[in-house]
Amino acid sequence: MSTAIDKLPYILSCDPAAKEIYQTVISQTVQAITDSIQDGGAYQGASVHQLQQILAKTQILPEQGLGWHAVLDKVKTDILPHFLRTWSTNYMAHLHSPALIESLASELILSTFNQSMDSWDQSPVATEVEVQVIKELCELYNLGPDADGTFTSGGSQSNLSALTLARDWYCNTVLHHDVKKYGLPASFQKLRLYCSEVSHFSMEKSAHLLGLGYDAVRKVAVDARCRMDVTALSAMIEEDEASGLLPFCVVATIGTTDYGSIDPVEELRKICDEHQLYLHADAAYASAVQLSDQYRVRLGNLGLCDSITVDFHKMFLLPISCGSLLIKHKAWFDVFTLHADYLNREEDEMDGYTNLVGKSLQTTRRFDALKVWMAFQCRGKDGYGEMIDTCIGNAAHLANQIAANAAFELAITPELSSVVFRLKGSCETNKAVRRQLLHHHQIVIGQTVYQGRTYLKFTLLNPMVTHQHLDALLEQIEQIGSTVRL
Ligand SMILES: *Cc1c(COP(=O)(O)O)cnc(C)c1O
Repeated sequence: MSTAIDKLPYILSCDPAAKEIYQTVISQTVQAITDSIQDGGAYQGASVHQLQQILAKTQILPEQGLGWHAVLDKVKTDILPHFLRTWSTNYMAHLHSPALIESLASELILSTFNQSMDSWDQSPVATEVEVQVIKELCELYNLGPDADGTFTSGGSQSNLSALTLARDWYCNTVLHHDVKKYGLPASFQKLRLYCSEVSHFSMEKSAHLLGLGYDAVRKVAVDARCRMDVTALSAMIEEDEASGLLPFCVVATIGTTDYGSIDPVEELRKICDEHQLYLHADAAYASAVQLSDQYRVRLGNLGLCDSITVDFHKMFLLPISCGSLLIKHKAWFDVFTLHADYLNREEDEMDGYTNLVGKSLQTTRRFDALKVWMAFQCRGKDGYGEMIDTCIGNAAHLANQIAANAAFELAITPELSSVVFRLKGSCETNKAVRRQLLHHHQIVIGQTVYQGRTYLKFTLLNPMVTHQHLDALLEQIEQIGSTVRL
């Protein structure tokens, strides 16, 4: 039997009936979500095989629509129980955070109004909010009066955009070759960029997409704290120059994905100035630490960089997706600017309308800036500082406990909120412990390889985690390790 709500109006509008149905649909959804959260486990969903079986029963595109209630019921039985719970204090596998509660309201607002950030006439107030948030961020990272920025889908897109600017800057100013117009210069196979051997794989992906190939990415050795070794970098650049190659860019990783290690930007700036290179900071992980009075100093002065990748869906605890790229000189964004009669007319821009499409790889783009605008105001520097200090403090506590326990080995002393360690014994034991935790204890932790051996990893992004909680987890890992020993 079909009710009014099963015959959904197409869209929300000023029609009171449509408004009422919108409210009902949203509140029933909120109810279903909260009902589905029964305990604090990180994962109690089905196994891979069971999930595939459950989902195979659904005909995704039926001949006749089922209406709202039937679909909500399916979501309740087939989807909600199987979600990974990012807010669980037992979830610490990846740089994948829980979302601040006010940011869930931001998501509802921004998808309800569905603004698109490409042109002012598709996002009037949203464009002006994004412009102001970007200005605030440029000040926060000391990028100077000529700075600018754009929102992105995350760190990978920010890095790809930054490396595009770096390549074009080098080709334009050093090689006097306009890539935008003519494509890559004849010497393209000689271009080289430098990043540490523990940098993010978006460097290689970007190098490929930019027509330079993986071979253009030179991996620099790291020191005992997993920071780029600047002496090795200098030697590598000099050697490459001597053999006729064309170094154009250094990427400093400000918080490596596995270890949270931080490359020294002051020293890298000096090397870049000596050799006329672009310096990009990939601060996808650690950018939020700029809000901590206690730990900001660990980042170095990011304002020395030519561009910075900032990721809000990691330590800033905002929902996916939300990232930005900040740059030192706004004119560099010309690389992405192209005018179309149907979208971003130059005449409108001359009259003061801002069309943000000119700074982005994307055309249609979400109003993610609202999440930053709301969360920054809700929490303030004090609230954010407290959350970040808690996470970094938790990692320091855990590392101390591990170092003091003969059953474990610590990879390196954490700089941020990741702790990489292992149970002494075989790699297989460590792997088995992680699987046991996932499938039998609702605890999801990470795994990586350090110096050729399997290590376990805690990525602590949840400010609700306590020292007691971590102590108990460590005890549990030790105990499981002694039973599964392989
Ligand atoms: C997570 C991460 C990225 C990629 O960011 P996405 O938002 O996942 O695209 C890039 N660099 C580093 C160091 C990261 O940790």
